[in-house]
Amino acid sequence: MTTYNPEEAMLQARREFGEHGGVAPSISRSATFTVLHPGTMPEIFEGLKGPEKDGCFLYSRHFNPTVDVLSRYLAAMEGTESAICTGSGMSAISCAILQICKGGDHIVSSETVYGGTHALLKSLLPQMNISTTFVDITDMDAVRKAVTPQTRIIFAETFGNPTLKLADIPALSTLTKQKGIKLVVDNTFSPLIVTPCHLGADVVVYSLTKYINGASDLIAGAVCAEKSFIQELMDLHTGRVMLLGPTMDPRVAFDIIQRMPHLPLRMREHSRRAMAMAEMLQEIGVKVFYPGLPSHPQHKLAEKIKNDTYGYGGILAIDCGSREKAELLMEILQNEEQFGLIAVSLGYFDTLISCSGSSTSSEIDMEEQLRMGLSPGLLRVAIGYTGPLEARLGQMKRAVQKILLS
Ligand code: PLP
Repeated sequence: MTTYNPEEAMLQARREFGEHGGVAPSISRSATFTVLHPGTMPEIFEGLKGPEKDGCFLYSRHFNPTVDVLSRYLAAMEGTESAICTGSGMSAISCAILQICKGGDHIVSSETVYGGTHALLKSLLPQMNISTTFVDITDMDAVRKAVTPQTRIIFAETFGNPTLKLADIPALSTLTKQKGIKLVVDNTFSPLIVTPCHLGADVVVYSLTKYINGASDLIAGAVCAEKSFIQELMDLHTGRVMLLGPTMDPRVAFDIIQRMPHLPLRMREHSRRAMAMAEMLQEIGVKVFYPGLPSHPQHKLAEKIKNDTYGYGGILAIDCGSREKAELLMEILQNEEQFGLIAVSLGYFDTLISCSGSSTSSEIDMEEQLRMGLSPGLLRVAIGYTGPLEARLGQMKRAVQKILLS
């Protein structure tokens, strides 16, 4: 267990009031901003004035007051100097990587990453002469061996999607610091639960679409890091967020700002229910993967890197043995038991269930899927918090007894 308390840190963030003293912040929807004197404009372009220097805003692809409020809240939660919000998790990931790597550079990545990230690393970045070696992130020897003089980044997800393998962030950080390269961590599955920069990561990327927003009604992302890196991303000449332009809409920022205060409550409840579900499934003989179970191969590591009181997250994986059985189980869960919805994504108040190999990880070819421990029958269950827990446990138990245990 770490000593970091992200809620305490979030309390330190400046509380933002709306116009007329509104308890909610205002939405600042202007694309462009009036400067009071003509001489101010060149000063903003020269970086002498800006949102943090005399409160001068210029243009909303650069900085926007409402989006800045969310960025400050996220930086406070992550304990980083700064953060920048983006239009999606994928744009946060791709801009962070492209800011660090140029043609000829190399990345070492966990093989258990979200399918879109895998495709970016495996198929798109090689077109820009940036190559990636995929490794089992739990095997530190393999990680070490994969690093070359051209390596600029080690990339990992805290809880790998969908196999829930854990990245040993402190050990990876020791290696990246030795080599003078950056550790970039996608913490989408585990906000509050793990604080990667506190454990030595350099850059944290998020899909805010998931837990942080928590309502499955928008797409958003963020990069949290030290100030100099965020400034690089927003540089007028070479900043990847500034120039590739995945700008967050201030209305989206406002929605997320309003949902962040109950993120701690939600994470605790997702985790409490996922733990109960995993324990029940294990007890009746279902093959279930959940970092909170002592049977999880990296349970001790989870204990070591997690912050206190948020549990082990809301996601568990069930090995159904075959894709047919996984699909049958989903059918029964959604259409007979009314237990959750067959849908990709996670972090919703309702349970979302998907068969990863044929959906969110389908960009990864079958051979690689098998190597990373993703069997075709692996069901990812992103546990929600609606309905009485006892009833939910009963629904799941009936469904697995019918499909997996009969
Ligand atoms: N990272 C992880 C771990 C994800 O699961 C996803 C999407 O499922 C993403 C990144 C991409 O996020 P977005 O859909 O917001 O672009």
